[in-house]
Amino acid sequence: MPPGKAVLSSFGSASLAHSALDKKDSTGIPHILEHSVLCGSRKYPLKEPFVELLKGSLHTFLNAFTYPDRTCYPVASTNTKDFYNLVDVYLDAVFFPKCVEDFQTFQQEGWHYELNDPSEDITYKGVVFNEMKGVYSQPDNILGRASQQALFPDNTYGVDSGGDPKVIPKLTFDEFKEFHRKYYHPSNARIWFYGDDDPNERLRLLSAPQESRVERQKLFSEPIRIVEKYPAAEGGDLKKKHMVCLNWLISEKPLDLETELALGFLDHLLLGTPASPLRKILLESRLGEAIVGGGVEDELLQPQFSIGLKGVSEDDTQKVEELVMSTLKSLAEEGFDAEAVEASMNTIEFSLRENNTGSFPRGLALMLRSIGKWVYDMDPFEPLKYQGPLAALKARIAKEGSKAVFAPLLEKFILNNPHLVTIEMQPDTEKASHEEAAEKEILDKVKASMTKEDLAELARATHELRLKQETPDPPEALKAVPSLSLQDIPKKPTHVPSEIGEINGVKVLQHNLFTNDVLYSEVVFDLSSLKQELLPLLNQLIGRKTGGISVYPFTSSVRGKQDPCSHVIVRGKAMSGRTEDLFNLVNCILQEVQFTDQKRFKQFVSQSKAGMENRLRGRGHGIAAARMDAKLNVAGWISEQMGGVSYLDFLRALEEKVDQNWAEISASLEEIRKSLISRQGCLVNLTADGKNLTNSEKYVSKFLDLLPSTSAVKASSWIAQLPSTTEAIIIPTQVNYVGKAANIYETGYQLNGSAYVISKYISNTWLWDRVRVSGGAYGGFCDFDTHSGVFSYLSYRDPNLLKTLDIYDGTGDFLRELEMSDDALTKAIIGTIGDVDSYQLPDAKGYSRGATLPSELFLLLQTNFLSVIGKFFLLFPRLQDFKEFAGAIDAVKDKGVVVAVASPDDVDAANKECCNFFEVKKAL
Ligand SMILES: [Zn+2]
Repeated sequence: MPPGKAVLSSFGSASLAHSALDKKDSTGIPHILEHSVLCGSRKYPLKEPFVELLKGSLHTFLNAFTYPDRTCYPVASTNTKDFYNLVDVYLDAVFFPKCVEDFQTFQQEGWHYELNDPSEDITYKGVVFNEMKGVYSQPDNILGRASQQALFPDNTYGVDSGGDPKVIPKLTFDEFKEFHRKYYHPSNARIWFYGDDDPNERLRLLSAPQESRVERQKLFSEPIRIVEKYPAAEGGDLKKKHMVCLNWLISEKPLDLETELALGFLDHLLLGTPASPLRKILLESRLGEAIVGGGVEDELLQPQFSIGLKGVSEDDTQKVEELVMSTLKSLAEEGFDAEAVEASMNTIEFSLRENNTGSFPRGLALMLRSIGKWVYDMDPFEPLKYQGPLAALKARIAKEGSKAVFAPLLEKFILNNPHLVTIEMQPDTEKASHEEAAEKEILDKVKASMTKEDLAELARATHELRLKQETPDPPEALKAVPSLSLQDIPKKPTHVPSEIGEINGVKVLQHNLFTNDVLYSEVVFDLSSLKQELLPLLNQLIGRKTGGISVYPFTSSVRGKQDPCSHVIVRGKAMSGRTEDLFNLVNCILQEVQFTDQKRFKQFVSQSKAGMENRLRGRGHGIAAARMDAKLNVAGWISEQMGGVSYLDFLRALEEKVDQNWAEISASLEEIRKSLISRQGCLVNLTADGKNLTNSEKYVSKFLDLLPSTSAVKASSWIAQLPSTTEAIIIPTQVNYVGKAANIYETGYQLNGSAYVISKYISNTWLWDRVRVSGGAYGGFCDFDTHSGVFSYLSYRDPNLLKTLDIYDGTGDFLRELEMSDDALTKAIIGTIGDVDSYQLPDAKGYSRGATLPSELFLLLQTNFLSVIGKFFLLFPRLQDFKEFAGAIDAVKDKGVVVAVASPDDVDAANKECCNFFEVKKAL
């Protein structure tokens, strides 16, 4: 492979799910099947080949996802041999899975009754069952599902392909098998490759014609209105917790590419930036806290448009509906501001040209765009050819004016379109407990209808399933999964060119990489001179996005040091011809913004609050992790102040304070700016090709000239940690997020490269098997922060609480008793190399070698990075290292802090069982 050239290939098989002929229900067959086919196949008859691939391949992507009408099985790798291995396992899984003959896989991934002992209650278990309970605990998800189902009452989009936990237990094994027989056929698959491998080799692997269809939803003749409930906690002003969302089904027929592109522009004009009129007017109306509905959605057969507000007062829902309609109407009449049209055009054109998919494989992003048409028998390449339609659209706007282009779209597709579904969501404090009670009633009935023999049989089956789940695959089955050998992998980490220079006394890092004429820049400021009590307010100063610029804090512990490293990073990108504009804009954001608009500020606080509440429900494991870190070190405390439960508390108080004492807040914001924006401790990181790097220097120099050179006196170092109590953060949910963590450096553990391999191995074996497969949680994993030394366990959408903690505590013994073949060890090493040296687009390469390792710490950390990673590449771990690591992580069992984000009922039960184990904190 020539240097600098990456092979990146993706494979996707998409199979059509429901058709009009199918029985329509929300048992989630497509989703359960997605999980189940990855549990063993004809050529690979082990329990989970998928997990074996996770453990031991260089994949840059390996997953599967279910849409309302298709399921995708994508893999990607930059190593061709590895890539074909992945394709082979996936093809066999999709077409010849064991699950269609294996009732126990269906039980494990779908649902089953669990009864450990005939004297106990029967419960439902199943990975998808629990995953979907988590989904149905989040109001935004309930709203999204209700919108889609109401828009499409007549076709397959009217049911939930993911599965409604109330309906999943109605699914039978026969229906499940029949679904696979009918739809998982080569003639119903679309297969996609991307990369520079040999096309003949691909064809050798497969061939596939196709047939299948989703019926079109006919447009309604008049609008409808629906009221739904969502689970909410007691307390707070429930009257102000309504949500209202307007949803249009845009068209009966699929749109041509130019119209679709124009709709994308319109969407960006309406909602794309904080200044976009529909977004701005809705938020400034103070009728609600944050926007719901994602604007134009076009990944199904027929496109939709959704918009609304949450945090709306009971009496204002009508007003929100009227405001949406009147705003759209006046925009159709008056048109958009010419500057806004140009800005949207630039943004969209830039993103089409840059095609920056982050860590998501580029080939896979193209596949998803293509498959959205191909699956309906349209040309798979057409959605990729944006240049022609884009030029045509630009020419039309130039000739006829933007109003002539956009007003008819607004009128036809939205204002005069009767297929409008308005959904009002009302908070219901009893919904969660009602649903739990209803579930229990069903299960009690099931139990009552069983004879003593039935119950004994069920307990036996429960036991048998668990035994199967906990018995490892035989070595011959494991050997069947193809994998790489150590000779196939690189001996050194990927080289990224870095030069350190100086402009106006400021350290400037330059990375000479091909970036397709884009300049990426990061300006890093030192945060350590800020007063401790001002930290949470920092986000309110910097958390605004403008154009291609984003600003955010970065905090980390530093190995072997007491003080954390904490910075604010200003990230921007532009076509290199616009470098001057980019730095002018950065300067303007940092130095010229005035803190005078009290109304706007309050709006921003309310939005941040709504965003945090959403995170608490959807990403409870992240909240628990931040909380544990805050109990263990200063860097964790800082992050929690700016993004955890403490931050939510702060925002709630701040929202009230804006009205009472705006002068003080405004002065604090100014103080933050003064202590932050300075040439002292500043660092600039640039990524582009050589010529553009040189050109940018004069603009960087001018920008640095404008920065003040002095900084406020350095505040005495921050000293703060949360008390190490065992905490349960209570939210209205049916699933839990359970965490336990400790600093293992305190036990004297010395970091070496094997830690990466071992912690990944624990996640993929012990925690996967116990927390997910037999525990029934959607996920369970561990994480080791090599900077702070914090080793943490976390679970995701977990039905258990104390039981999961017991599993965590068993990890040390698991490692001590571990037997491991050389093959398994090699697999674990290869699986880790993909993580420590992952595939990156050029901006990420420059960024990860520069801005995440900032200023005076850069050299220090850079050295550590290379020595740790370098050693890792040179010195592969042995089984003995795994056993020794057990001693270090026993610290988590013995002294670890515990935080769970959990449902009130489960916490009550745990506190009864284990005398007031948790200190309870109510967060929602
Ligand atoms: Zn799933």
